[in-house]
Amino acid sequence: MSSYNIQSQQLIDDFMTMVRIDSPSKDERAMADWLTARFKELGCEVEEDKAGEEVGGNAGNLRVFLKGNTDVAPLLFSSHMDTVEPANGIEPVIEDGVIRSKGETILGSDDKAGIACILHLARMANGQPDVPRGDLEFSIHICEEIGLLGAKYVDTGKFHAKMGYILDDHDPRQVCIGSPSAVRIDYKVFGKASHAGVEPEKGISAIKVVGEILARMNFGRIDEETTANIGVIKGGTASNIMTPLVEMKAEARSHNPEKLEKQVAHMNACFEEVCKEWRDKLGENLPKYEVDRSDDYHAVSFTTDDYLVKLALSAGKTLGWEMGTKISGGGTDGSVLTHLGIPCVVLGVGMQDVHSTNEYIKISDFEEAANLVASIVENHANGVVV
Ligand SMILES: [Zn+2]
Repeated sequence: MSSYNIQSQQLIDDFMTMVRIDSPSKDERAMADWLTARFKELGCEVEEDKAGEEVGGNAGNLRVFLKGNTDVAPLLFSSHMDTVEPANGIEPVIEDGVIRSKGETILGSDDKAGIACILHLARMANGQPDVPRGDLEFSIHICEEIGLLGAKYVDTGKFHAKMGYILDDHDPRQVCIGSPSAVRIDYKVFGKASHAGVEPEKGISAIKVVGEILARMNFGRIDEETTANIGVIKGGTASNIMTPLVEMKAEARSHNPEKLEKQVAHMNACFEEVCKEWRDKLGENLPKYEVDRSDDYHAVSFTTDDYLVKLALSAGKTLGWEMGTKISGGGTDGSVLTHLGIPCVVLGVGMQDVHSTNEYIKISDFEEAANLVASIVENHANGVVV
């Protein structure tokens, strides 16, 4: 049991209001304004940073602070304001205890369910000031869906909290304790243009070279810790031209940094080898390739001995639940904040089938998430870790 009275109707009302506010990545202004007003009404300090200017969006990340009434270490909770497309004109409907969109859009529970839990926590803290709690800090981010961009511009030096939770996953009873490192790799393969019908022998088809490269490359599921993908291939303008340029977008991920480097090296080697074989055969300085690598996010690995994990598990047990841990295949803003020195564990808020028009959230899961967050805050203040 938690001393906080979960205000289920308020939680759902806030959520329904928020999903109706359009907030695709880089267009979070209306959402940021609405949240700023709500948090200020609840006695929080709110500060918006300049991340929007950095990424070409119209709103920054919000840092929200609410003074506590006990001396324990401040806790951070974080979610993101932006949603994937189709994101505009969302009409949420409630049916049989499930909230979904009418069908033409996503729902936006990713991640407005997380924000609703945070807002609900602020409401309870404001409405029940006698329940013991430490200082609370909320970091509400922009542009998570387009490469964790907002989080990358957060000034963690301003944080009071030195640890926290990201509310941006599915099952509230599963605490996410690990996520992979990821790199994005852009490749360009250069051939030589010529008329494909008149003198094909004067050209070098970059498409043919790429075909050989891909036939040699191992991607998809590499091992239980590692994946890789070629997601985009672009090249050519007409069927009668030997294609001079092909551009490709690739990625690799692993929970193990050595395996990640090995996979990237393998992918690069396929380009290197095939291009060299062609050049040797043709006696020319083409085909060649270029590679542009960027580290997207870094692996996170917690154990059940880490305080944040123990606290979350025990908060669930306090509520009488069977709790578990999970490993994720994707990065979150927690990957970024943890790498910036603020360790963050990821918690589920009930969102399901995200990034699709089938997205939905079960109200019972959503309520559990709000309950878990309140229980974490209370157990932390009372020093209860079971
Ligand atoms: Zn999300």
